[in-house]
Amino acid sequence: MRVVTTAQTPELDVQPSPLALLLLGREADPKSERGVECPGDLPSPSDPDLVARARAAKEKLGDKVFVLGHHYQRDEVIQFADVTGDSFKLARDAAARPEAEYIVFCGVHFMAESADILTSDDQKVVLPDLAAGCSMADMATAEQVAECWDVLTEAGIAEQVVPVSYMNSSADIKAFTGKHGGTICTSSNAKRALDWAFEQGEPSATKVLFLPDQHLGRNTAVRDMGMSLDDCVVYNPHKPNGGLTADELRAAKMILWRGHCSVHGRFSLDSVNDVRARIPGVNVLVHPECRHEVVAAADHVGSTEYIIKTLEAAPAGSKWAIGTELNLVRRLANRFAPEGKEIVFLDRTVCFCSTMNRIDLPHLVWALESLAEGNLVNRIEVDKETEAFAKLALERMLALP
Ligand code: SF4
Repeated sequence: MRVVTTAQTPELDVQPSPLALLLLGREADPKSERGVECPGDLPSPSDPDLVARARAAKEKLGDKVFVLGHHYQRDEVIQFADVTGDSFKLARDAAARPEAEYIVFCGVHFMAESADILTSDDQKVVLPDLAAGCSMADMATAEQVAECWDVLTEAGIAEQVVPVSYMNSSADIKAFTGKHGGTICTSSNAKRALDWAFEQGEPSATKVLFLPDQHLGRNTAVRDMGMSLDDCVVYNPHKPNGGLTADELRAAKMILWRGHCSVHGRFSLDSVNDVRARIPGVNVLVHPECRHEVVAAADHVGSTEYIIKTLEAAPAGSKWAIGTELNLVRRLANRFAPEGKEIVFLDRTVCFCSTMNRIDLPHLVWALESLAEGNLVNRIEVDKETEAFAKLALERMLALP
């Protein structure tokens, strides 16, 4: 999905980037997050032999292939994953399997890029559908971020600013971060990354440019680090100077990029109030990519790994409303139902990540069969200079205390 679904609050009322206006299924640029057409002849989705074909192709490839399945993928795809997890865990798992020549990443484009950065040159990363991008990653382009840095320089604060970029960003943004002395973070270690960033200079003068998810940045700063909402400003790349005055930039501690997740950004305070009214005693557990008012109203907040661990440890008979992607919530509801744990989706409306859902069984079968026939398809390859700076930023994250 390339068209950004904007939403209920003015805060999310972003203008679509030029990339978002591109028609899905056009163009052919595997280096971008844009929708591109799949060049292969895909098997029909109704082919009853798809499961057997995927199994046969995977067996033929043996140890040469390693299939990664992100938590938000469909069950029909997850069944073929050698390992499941969040994007960073999967990239590290791939790097730990050097014998696997082909890494088939069932996830989205920025995840495949990260896997390419962290794996050896001999390993080739394949994204079964090149149209599987991420609307959040699309919201920060290299040109926009370079322009933002010029704005910060003109305001006389660039030397005080440390970029911290969420894993959910393009390789270009990770490289920008590495080049400017910053680090990458995940939703699990965002607080540690911010602590580190504020230690890179005089703490009272240091500022963080947080890319591209304003919500994770704001939630971490306010909820976990005791900052106030007034310490945060939002840089809008679609407005001159980000829509901020030099004085506003100088006064801020957190400069939040105006990006958000189209899935987690949909949960609202009404969703929380509604589920509490419907299910007395329910525990509300949400991802920190949700809006601040949702996080503030929830009982528990954490990454997908945290959500899974919390539910594993939950007592029988407990009730949970989960604010994250629907494929994962459904899988967890089925997994824990026999233990007497009631798990529901936080919102009443369907909330899949549409780009994650681009990876389906026909695309996976096509990718595996192509590889088994010796045809390398849909390779995601980050150029060497970008890779070097992006790796620097990722290594700073790995070195976080
Ligand atoms: S769930 Fe959100 S952040 Fe994750 S891939 Fe989908 S749009 Fe991007």
